[in-house]
Amino acid sequence: MTELYTEGAPIRDEKAPDGPIAERWDKRRFSARLVNPANRRKLSIIIVGTGLAGASAAATLGEAGYNVKSFCYQDSPRRAHSIAAQGGINAAKNYRNDGDSIYRLFYDTVKGGDYRARESNVYRLAQVSVEIIDQCVAQGVPFAREYGGLLDNRSFGGVQVSRTFYARGQTGQQLLIGAYQALERQVAAGTVEMYTRHEMLELIVVDGRARGIIVRDMVTGEIETHFADAVVLATGGYGNVFFLSTNAMGSNVTAIWRAHRKGALFANPCYTQIHPTCIPVSGSYQSKLTLMSESLRNDGRIWVPKKMGDKRDPREIPEEERDYYLEGMYPSFGNLVPRDIASRAAKRVCDEGRGVGPGGLGVYLDFADAIKRMGRAAVEAKYGNLFDMYQRITGENPYEVPMRIYPAVHYTMGGLWVDYDLQSTIPGLFVAGEANFSDHGANRLGASALMQGLADGYFVLPNTINDYLADGPFEKIDESHPEVKEAAEAVRTRLDKLLSINGSRTVDSFHRELGQIMWDYCGMERTEEGLNKAIARIRELRAEFWRDVKVTGVNEELNQALERAHRVADFFELAELMCIDALHRRESCGGHFRAESQTEDGEALRHDDEFAYVAAWEFTGVGEPPVLHKEALEYEYVEMKQRSYK
Ligand SMILES: Cc1cc2nc3c(=O)[nH]c(=O)nc-3n(C[C@H](O)[C@H](O)[C@H](O)COP(=O)(O)OP(=O)(O)OC[C@H]3O[C@@H](n4cnc5c(N)ncnc54)[C@H](O)[C@@H]3O)c2cc1C
Repeated sequence: MTELYTEGAPIRDEKAPDGPIAERWDKRRFSARLVNPANRRKLSIIIVGTGLAGASAAATLGEAGYNVKSFCYQDSPRRAHSIAAQGGINAAKNYRNDGDSIYRLFYDTVKGGDYRARESNVYRLAQVSVEIIDQCVAQGVPFAREYGGLLDNRSFGGVQVSRTFYARGQTGQQLLIGAYQALERQVAAGTVEMYTRHEMLELIVVDGRARGIIVRDMVTGEIETHFADAVVLATGGYGNVFFLSTNAMGSNVTAIWRAHRKGALFANPCYTQIHPTCIPVSGSYQSKLTLMSESLRNDGRIWVPKKMGDKRDPREIPEEERDYYLEGMYPSFGNLVPRDIASRAAKRVCDEGRGVGPGGLGVYLDFADAIKRMGRAAVEAKYGNLFDMYQRITGENPYEVPMRIYPAVHYTMGGLWVDYDLQSTIPGLFVAGEANFSDHGANRLGASALMQGLADGYFVLPNTINDYLADGPFEKIDESHPEVKEAAEAVRTRLDKLLSINGSRTVDSFHRELGQIMWDYCGMERTEEGLNKAIARIRELRAEFWRDVKVTGVNEELNQALERAHRVADFFELAELMCIDALHRRESCGGHFRAESQTEDGEALRHDDEFAYVAAWEFTGVGEPPVLHKEALEYEYVEMKQRSYK
């Protein structure tokens, strides 16, 4: 084991305030230095990413008066992956009067994350959640309403209250339109300059500070340099390292991986969320998986036949021959247990030979009872667009036959390590949204990613980044600076190399094979033996990639093969780190299930005495042992115990 990594000095979150938890955010806002409005005009910020985290940050910092440059690789900020979010966004408004509070949202999130998240961050997230809803309503986001006019709520996994605000099954899209409009207002006002179709391929670090980025104009191939006083990465998650995931096809790790190579620590890379309700894989030609929102578990009932290999039409299987296994195993939370638990339970019944559909890798999500209870029209009003989507993809009508679902990769809790201010270990480099290692610990509760992305962009960064910028503007630099020249040259060399190999295998064939290794050995269940095998296999495949990949076309044109090759090259390096992280964590927690560490009834077994820390990794070279820095996690308010949803 020791040769795979070394251990360095522990790390601490120096910005985290102390004192009563409810007062910490106020305390930090008061202690953080300010920049007066006239001085903000002299300072510039680069924001990479226009999803909910990036768009909200750019709009807010532009409105504050900073000079913002905003980047995305899509043709419009509105195509950021956030647009795909379906089910909803949490907030502790307690509109339902069902016992919710900021404290309960905080408690549920720490527990849901299997006690591997920071208390101070999570408490702030719960506090700010309330403001997010007000902000979005003021922008005109059309949240669903009840008859009386109040905003409607539903439940998501791991909680017993209804605190999820939603806009049918298009919550992400509606929230993104709100953030996008705020962003465009700043573009029109001249505070934000928008660069679409530009992909960041390198971070510029000068005298230890993040000072800019190298981007490729994806239409012309031109390599450009952009400078600023601070850089924010809001570039989303890296679930596509598994090839098949529910993420948008373009989602990738490059921006944060390049920053990691330049010195930013990468935290908890192995914490991956596997979502229990996705449409099962249907064949080897497939390049994308589709989520069926968790909100469906409010009314749909999950079951498999009691008998192994039962091939009958589900409608012909009588009640007494069905196993509603979540309701049986977890009576308090039933079908709404958290995602890690529901996913593992689905795997277990399929491993027993009771799975349904092709290959036996599926379980039923059945709405027959809900239709009987509420009527088809009510079900359609709540979930209509999700049902339509299911029918278009599978050709089956879910109003008549139960949906078939199976777990799939969905979200990455790991990401760049940040302190309470959202600053990485590189001064001047801030990270927001899914790209940072986030507030979700080892497992994210449903409807909490949108909450975190918007909390970071609308409320946290605008209050913390000033503290860093108060020392600016920093010394002017230009393209002749040696560090800048070196960064641009590194990008050109890498692109030239990819184009010159002219091997025999497509980028996708490598990506697919890498994804399969990750799914088999670093997916829902991990073992020491499997992870060691995966690391060896990843190294071999990475070497083969650099020997035999075929990238067609040239740099000076729109070249998707080149874009993908660059992203997959970074996935190869990340994959190794994920496996090392998973291997070193010899406990099960949340989304990280080590088969060697489970309770008698098959639940995840943590080892708090050994592993109650954030694992923050330092890059030392490709294939070289990374250095592990541990940030101890301390719990003053929530008692660490074995999670139970029974
Ligand atoms: C199908 C699906 C449904 C979901 N539903 C929900 C839900 O109901 N509720 C919930 O809370 N969460 C949900 N999630 C999770 C949530 O959508 C995401 O975690 C969240 O939207 C991420 O937002 P973000 O702003 O961090 O990143 P993203 O929305 O992924 O945006 C990333 C941005 O970075 C840009 N970018 C990335 N790399 C580069 C680069 N190198 N150069 C330039 N630009 C770059 C992209 O162009 C894009 O603009 C869902 C996720 C999926 C996959």
